[in-house]
Amino acid sequence: MTKSNPRMLGEHMTRELTASGGRRLTYLRMSVTDLCNLRCGYCMPPEGVPKLRHHDILTFEEMARLAAVAAGLGMTKLRLTGGEPLVRRGLSGFIRRLGEEGFTDLRLTTNGLLLAPMAAELKAAGLRGLNISLDALEPAIYAQLCGLPGPEGLRAARQAWEGFQAALACGFDVKINCVPIRGVNDGQLLPLARLALEYPIDVRFIEHMPIGDGRLWNADRFMSAAEVYTMLADGLGTLTPAKVVDPSAPARLYRPAGAPGAVGFISPLSGHFCGDCNRLRLTADGKMKPCLLTGQELDLRAPLRAGADDQTLAALFSQAACLKPLSHLAADDHGGRQMNRIGG
Ligand code: SAM
Ligand code: SF4
Repeated sequence: MTKSNPRMLGEHMTRELTASGGRRLTYLRMSVTDLCNLRCGYCMPPEGVPKLRHHDILTFEEMARLAAVAAGLGMTKLRLTGGEPLVRRGLSGFIRRLGEEGFTDLRLTTNGLLLAPMAAELKAAGLRGLNISLDALEPAIYAQLCGLPGPEGLRAARQAWEGFQAALACGFDVKINCVPIRGVNDGQLLPLARLALEYPIDVRFIEHMPIGDGRLWNADRFMSAAEVYTMLADGLGTLTPAKVVDPSAPARLYRPAGAPGAVGFISPLSGHFCGDCNRLRLTADGKMKPCLLTGQELDLRAPLRAGADDQTLAALFSQAACLKPLSHLAADDHGGRQMNRIGG
């Protein structure tokens, strides 16, 4: 398959993607697989979800082609996600290819289980940042949340921690993601936040979204960003708003006094951030989602496999940009996809 040529694209059409409200879209999230080695209670049911058929998943070659088109349209940042992206074989080679296609800011979101033995290779391939999902430091609570009972869950907790340590040792820009759930991991939020006192990382708390059929969703268990903020301020003392480096970043960051890191709050439910959203999402089966929380999708796989040229694919990206809403009713209609299928 031939590589896309961004210069050729530029000769025929604007090399940028804009959505309503003057939002310039520069950030692509790509889900590389729907498979996962965990069953987090906020994400999917304990038995897992039906797998996509192998043929339905885009090959790395196909993903790289779409990434090249995106780069030709001025996208510079790309995050790989899943499912669990580290379960897909050949990821480092793919990351290297994405850098060659023009992405200067490559990041990945992972549960960290498989990270420790892969971290150095991923860094050498050009990956810059890792968001690691860690919902509890206490192994028994981690195990309860991650959906693996008994020793398997405890082993997963250890592997996730080792993954986190390896990420730090390799010099990645590290962020922790935690979904607070009352009665499950609320006692873990302060210990997790204290990691920001020790390491130069952002520890981010994401409001639990009622997406898919994760078994833990329950309005009484929902903890708003404001509630978690109050809890942390009680435990850590004054939290000073951090300087905003990237206005399109979804987390509002605060620095505890003297801390090398920060704590952050992502509030898709209590406070939307649509007006600053600069991203498009591509699912592992080749559907472009203009927004995480609406059901609209645009199929890129069929035209791609039917031999569409770069301009046609670029036009589909532009169409997706036009479909990007300026506000949403959270999880009003997300097309019935679980987070592992959308890519968080
Ligand atoms: N498997 C990887 C991981 O867990 O980091 C990447 C995919 S996961 C779907 C991406 C992020 O979505 C994770 O940080 C997870 O905490 C978050 N997530 C999943 N389901 C969620 C939900 N219902 N509400 C809020 N965040 C959720
Ligand atoms: Fe897997 Fe990530 Fe979903 Fe947990 S949040 S089940 S690790 S995809």
